[in-house]
Amino acid sequence: MVRETAYYDILGVPPRATNDEIKRAFRRLALRYHPDKNPNAGEKFKQISKAYDVLSDSTKRELYDQGGESAINGESSYQRGRCSSAMDIFNLFFGSRSRSRSRGERKGKTVTYCLPVSLEELYNGATRKLSIQKNVICLKCKGCGARQGSEVQCRRCRGTGVEARVLSQIPGMVHSIQTTCSECNGQGECIKSRDRCRHCDGRKVVREKKILAVHIDKGMKNRQKVIFHSEGDQAPGMQPGDIVIILEQKEHALFQRKDNDLLMKMEIPLADALCGCKQQVQMLDGRSILVTSQPGKVISPGETKCIPKEGMPKYRDPFEKGDLIIQFKVKFPKPGWIPTDRLQELQELFPSKSMPNLPDNTEDVYLTDYDSKENHGHQHRREAYEEDDNDSSHPLQCQTS
Ligand SMILES: [Zn+2]
Ligand SMILES: [Zn+2]
Repeated sequence: MVRETAYYDILGVPPRATNDEIKRAFRRLALRYHPDKNPNAGEKFKQISKAYDVLSDSTKRELYDQGGESAINGESSYQRGRCSSAMDIFNLFFGSRSRSRSRGERKGKTVTYCLPVSLEELYNGATRKLSIQKNVICLKCKGCGARQGSEVQCRRCRGTGVEARVLSQIPGMVHSIQTTCSECNGQGECIKSRDRCRHCDGRKVVREKKILAVHIDKGMKNRQKVIFHSEGDQAPGMQPGDIVIILEQKEHALFQRKDNDLLMKMEIPLADALCGCKQQVQMLDGRSILVTSQPGKVISPGETKCIPKEGMPKYRDPFEKGDLIIQFKVKFPKPGWIPTDRLQELQELFPSKSMPNLPDNTEDVYLTDYDSKENHGHQHRREAYEEDDNDSSHPLQCQTS
């Protein structure tokens, strides 16, 4: 008896559907709701994939039919990570190359490529086409290297690749060792030049260009691997190795990435730091945002503020986003930006401070620029002298009340 039917409903099939019906339904829906075609249907795509993940597996389907979703949740491959995302299930289905291989068959080596990707691509998701060269089994000779009907087995070793070499022969006693067949170099086969396959010249494989479509999912990390199972070089009697693409995040002019957060520096004028700022920022998806501080909230130099949910999308959950973290730099006005006779006016706007009672023998000393070079002492005296000349510019902080 079928108790819960939600997964069947998602795929639009009756609970009695055959495996083929389930497969067909998934194919139709997955193509329609694939995030590349339908970016707003991420949740739907996930549901479809999860439903298919369960219903296409006879063990899980039985479990689901008996106990519903809760029964398979502990078992789900989402947790186990076998096919750990909707995308993986999609790729398994449409990439559809069986990963199982007969036991004992050797596997070719894994080939790794680095693919530089921009932060924009990791934010928005992208598909990059990568052209590679690889060996594929020659179709003309089906990988035997010889013309049809011709003999390929080495006569000397009868295809074993080894021969026995007699070392000494004493009557009644033969002493021999096994060595690599000298005729076929241990290959077990010899193809006469006239019997060689013309297409591959007896090499059994031909070099072919192949385009790999690398799907960069939203929120993928720097150094994250995209694996193309069994897409490596083919060779007779061997399981092709994998091709591994390592994404290398390029540096961005504005943003630095820290996990799912984006960090940026922002320089604002002192007036904005005091009175409130509005700064436009171009985001990675092309949107423009206006970073606005509340009037009256003072931003100190070096202070860090945050805009929630404007960071990188979370991998496999792209509707969740990290934060945008802004470190502020405050640009102070240049000397002389305000007429000195208006300084009092400005001072009055700031919180008043009380001047302690000064002892009678208090001396006025003036700040000058600090220069750590050797002529520092000389410059210090000269500037002090110049400033002494100018009676109207007594710094405010040295006035006594
Ligand atoms: Zn041989
Ligand atoms: Zn061939």
